[in-house]
Amino acid sequence: DRTPANYVPLTPVSLLARGAAAHGAKVAVIDGDRRITYAELYGRCRRLASGLAARGIGRLDTVAILAANIPEMIEAHYAVPMLGAVLNPLNTRLDAATIAFSLRHGGARALLVDADYAALAARALAELDAPLLVIAIGGSAGLDGAGLDGDGLDGAVPYEALLEGGDPDHPWTGPADEWQSLCLLYTSGTTGDPKGAVYSHRGAYLQALGNAVTFGLGADSVYLWTLPMFHCSGWSYPWACVAAGATQVCLRKVEPAAIFRLIAAHGVTHLCGAPIVLSLIAHAPAHERTAFAHTVRCATGGAAPSSTIIRTMEEMGFRVTHLYGATESYGPATACLAQPDWTDLTADERYLRMARQGVALATLDAAIVADPETAEPVPRDGSTVGEIFLRGNTIMKGYLGNPEATARTLAGGWYRTGDLGVWHPDGAVEIKDRAKDIIISGGENISSLEVEEVLMRHPAVMLAAVVARPDATWGETPCAFLEVKPGTEPPEEAELVAFCRERMARFKVPKTVVFGPLPKTSTGKIQKFVLRDQARAL
Ligand code: ADP
Repeated sequence: DRTPANYVPLTPVSLLARGAAAHGAKVAVIDGDRRITYAELYGRCRRLASGLAARGIGRLDTVAILAANIPEMIEAHYAVPMLGAVLNPLNTRLDAATIAFSLRHGGARALLVDADYAALAARALAELDAPLLVIAIGGSAGLDGAGLDGDGLDGAVPYEALLEGGDPDHPWTGPADEWQSLCLLYTSGTTGDPKGAVYSHRGAYLQALGNAVTFGLGADSVYLWTLPMFHCSGWSYPWACVAAGATQVCLRKVEPAAIFRLIAAHGVTHLCGAPIVLSLIAHAPAHERTAFAHTVRCATGGAAPSSTIIRTMEEMGFRVTHLYGATESYGPATACLAQPDWTDLTADERYLRMARQGVALATLDAAIVADPETAEPVPRDGSTVGEIFLRGNTIMKGYLGNPEATARTLAGGWYRTGDLGVWHPDGAVEIKDRAKDIIISGGENISSLEVEEVLMRHPAVMLAAVVARPDATWGETPCAFLEVKPGTEPPEEAELVAFCRERMARFKVPKTVVFGPLPKTSTGKIQKFVLRDQARAL
């Protein structure tokens, strides 16, 4: 119970200090024609920290950022925690009112704005009572804060001017206590009002190392930014890449042609994305593809990847790592790890195994399936359904200003995910459904994910979402919403039903099928609550 003299609070900021000392001349960040070495990156971050400090930003002040995947976004992930301040990355796809809600709720003192989102930021700022310190980042037009007046950000400090006036040797000490808050992230609101999850320096540090190890990042790795950095701190990769000594390649807009071009041009070895991004890559038209000869590791999560998309990616030369987690777990909490006996499986069986959510990351304490009433673990039999519980230092500290929701969600020290799943004998957890997405037909539970998994194997289907539709006889029946592959005709309903009947129990086969584009959230997840309303109205 005595703190030893050699106690150093864990903070991800130290990873960059060490990176600059260990390989300062190495390229840390590539952005178009720009190259930023580790030494330069560290200097720029310290300048930013000192510039913010000179304008009164300090310990536990919230600094929000509205930006694409640009170098300045990486810089903010170091400079803001250097000050002991709290970084609040905002989702660029949200509307002004929701952004204003976050700025108000999070008590933001400063806002860094990528010029591409200046108009959106101006609309959000107009809804606030008090002015903020606004810092304008150049943007794709290379404005460097100039010419923003028309967008209503006239008082903004240009980012580069702030850096020029900053001190590249700004002394930073890190937090006195590693449990101090460093980041605030609002949930994407798939299931209701956004809640602000708060993370610690310790959690971020461990999450970065856990992800670097799980994803096999090393000094030769080249990481491409296809995952929005505003989503769970880019699942911690702004820090994980630096811990590994890797190079990060920025990408403003996730488009397949650019992804393929950058993979080939920079020898990208790693990228991440929700299954929807994988789908975008997998279905890119031939003229948008640039060939590459090496293996690219691709981590996916945030929603369930079907075995079909995993297979398609692997056949294209990607090696898929399947991760599972939530905003509350700061992104990935489990990873599906290949087991020695998988070599005996057929390819189909192996891809189905890879679609399981897997086991806790090395830096998490535990991922279990438990009875939601008693919190007792269920048997590891692959069939008893319970709720997935997670525990460890990388889980959020709690929701900002919401002690009731925090107590409920973290009851007994476990993060209760609200995901229903089974526990396999090899330790892997497998999600069957989100608690509210399960379909109950004639008293039988139907996992919507299981039905979607089969539908996605149909050659014409690109995306499938299955929800409950109220039914006088059965209570509920499965209703399938399907997006077909580009340039493909929707299959006949009878043919699709026959396809399902061959592959699943009769009561699970969708009774209704609707074709059309699926509604998605700002993070690319299918909005099942919208589909449930549509199914009810059919
Ligand atoms: P929201 O709750 O608003 O959708 P989150 O990003 O916190 O935002 O979503 C976390 C949820 O996403 C998890 O609880 C789970 O239901 C789902 N999810 C995340 N990763 C996976 C995965 N690999 N497989 C299946 N579901 C996933």
